[in-house]
Amino acid sequence: MTLNFPEVRGVNLDSQTRCEHFHGATDIIAIKMKCCDVYYACQECHAALTEHEIEVWPEREWSQEAILCGACGVELTIHQYMQGEFCCPACRAQFNPKCRSHYHFYFQMPGSL
Ligand SMILES: [Zn+2]
Ligand SMILES: [Zn+2]
Ligand SMILES: [Zn+2]
Repeated sequence: MTLNFPEVRGVNLDSQTRCEHFHGATDIIAIKMKCCDVYYACQECHAALTEHEIEVWPEREWSQEAILCGACGVELTIHQYMQGEFCCPACRAQFNPKCRSHYHFYFQMPGSL
């Protein structure tokens, strides 16, 4: 980890923000939780370490930097992340495309709520 890496919380974190729950080669992103303003490796880590529900990011706030590349430490906005090709624009590390099925845990998806 570099010195300016933001704090990431999670269970059994490795140096690229993989956690107890998601530890495949490409499971390297962390998500900043709107409720805590802190990066967590995944929503299950958030559940394990806090006692409140995740507050999802409303679409109007998707220009906030809330995605951390665990490989290089760059922070992406939610828009950048969603419009990307499941890789880091800075270091080209691959992100897990299956995360798509978990967006609703973190982001208020159009048509929901
Ligand atoms: Zn929280
Ligand atoms: Zn986790
Ligand atoms: Zn990167």
